[in-house]
Amino acid sequence: MKKLQMVDLVGQYQDIKEEVDESIEEILNSAAFINGPAVHQFQSDLENYLGVKHVIPCANGTDALQITMMGLGLKPGDEIITADFTFAATVEVIALLNLTPVLVDVEEDTFNIDPIAIEKAITPKTKAIVPVHLFGMCANMDAIMDIAKKHNLFVIEDNAQAIGATYTSSSGLKKKAGSIGHIASTSFFPSKNLGCYGDGGAIFTNDDALAHTIRGIVNHGMYTRYHHDVVGVNSRLDTIQAAVLKAKLPHLDNYCNRRRLAASKYMAALKGHPAIILPRANKNCEGICEVCDCHVFHQFTLRILGGKRDALAAHLNDKGIPHGIYYPIPLHRQKAYVDERYQEADFTVTNKLVKEVISLPMHTELDDEQIAYIATTIVDFLNA
Ligand SMILES: *Cc1c(COP(=O)(O)O)cnc(C)c1O
Repeated sequence: MKKLQMVDLVGQYQDIKEEVDESIEEILNSAAFINGPAVHQFQSDLENYLGVKHVIPCANGTDALQITMMGLGLKPGDEIITADFTFAATVEVIALLNLTPVLVDVEEDTFNIDPIAIEKAITPKTKAIVPVHLFGMCANMDAIMDIAKKHNLFVIEDNAQAIGATYTSSSGLKKKAGSIGHIASTSFFPSKNLGCYGDGGAIFTNDDALAHTIRGIVNHGMYTRYHHDVVGVNSRLDTIQAAVLKAKLPHLDNYCNRRRLAASKYMAALKGHPAIILPRANKNCEGICEVCDCHVFHQFTLRILGGKRDALAAHLNDKGIPHGIYYPIPLHRQKAYVDERYQEADFTVTNKLVKEVISLPMHTELDDEQIAYIATTIVDFLNA
């Protein structure tokens, strides 16, 4: 059996080595390391892929979130509602900008921010909602956009984990993740579904004025050379990373399909076990994720019932099966983000999920033998 890995970036590279090497070599030969033509080419390819008017490349997904909030003109004291169950980057940038993060609970079946909890948390100071499309599946955007409209709030999609996913609204309209809210951010960290070979990120929006503002912010607040109209940052996508992404983007749909196929095989092997809850599809999608386009399985995350998650994790360690606990501590209990306003009773789902979730190896190179071995090891342990 091939060596088990959480992600197999070497295997994925081998498959597209010629295209990537050629793309990188072009940059080396031209020395256009900053803002070279590949950056603009990738930007326009991604705009076409996502069906958005503007893609603004930047240095990483955390910067993308921060710049997005700067671009929207959010001010200290403004309250930003986001999920308690996510990676810290989302809440970190809110706090860094002296905005007030307001963490809310998630839905048990989708792991995504709970619209009912959002609505309860709205105050006159609320300015934006940041849904995170966790593990590769869109949050309930119909409900979130309705709430935002009703209360006049911005919606910033943190799309670091769901690039390539398609959201089907209850009206049947399909849109790519990251093209639904007012603005979205993503990350091209190597292990993300569209990863480069270092750090990278991007912002998406259909709003021309906002895109213009943000293009200046990423470049030291300059709209005219050496005229600094606003406080900006230096956040660029390296040309070499853009060259890698330009070569990989045409493969993204295939990568999503390979992840879905792996997910469907895991599901078939683990289905019906009383101690396992399998990941599910978007609420507007009938049936199961593997046959629809709503989920791109950035992670394949199970819930293990009966208090056996940690024992299973230890057993997988013994068997040489990599796994991840995303995430082990709710953000509202992280030292950096504690706030006396938070009540444990408002986070019952996240508090439960952090004890139940376990993510299995998930990548484009997983084969049947590996999946069967992992699934059998899990089932045998839970049945013992
Ligand atoms: C990875 C990730 C980020 C941050 O991306 P970086 O490129 O590592 O800065 C932000 N939000 C979520 C949900 C992520 O998974």
